[in-house]
Amino acid sequence: MFTVSMDRFAYGLPDPQEAPVVAECAWCGREIYGGYVMDVYLNALPKSKDKRKRIAAPNSDYMHVECWEECADTFGLSKAERDLIATIEEL
Ligand SMILES: [Zn+2]
Repeated sequence: MFTVSMDRFAYGLPDPQEAPVVAECAWCGREIYGGYVMDVYLNALPKSKDKRKRIAAPNSDYMHVECWEECADTFGLSKAERDLIATIEEL
């Protein structure tokens, strides 16, 4: 009986990203791996006709902390508005 060892392929390559993905970033669309994230109330962002183009994942409530800063700057939010729209959370 002729058999081919599949051992080399059975386990695949080591996964460089072993941390579990906890959410998708609404701003950049990339994965969030836990730690501190911003929970953002997207509907409260000022109405803007290009809002859809700027938000990569409108179905997510979460953003990387640095992405939220960029988002808030893009929408020209005041400090009070930022505090109202987003809260920091640890996932
Ligand atoms: Zn992001």
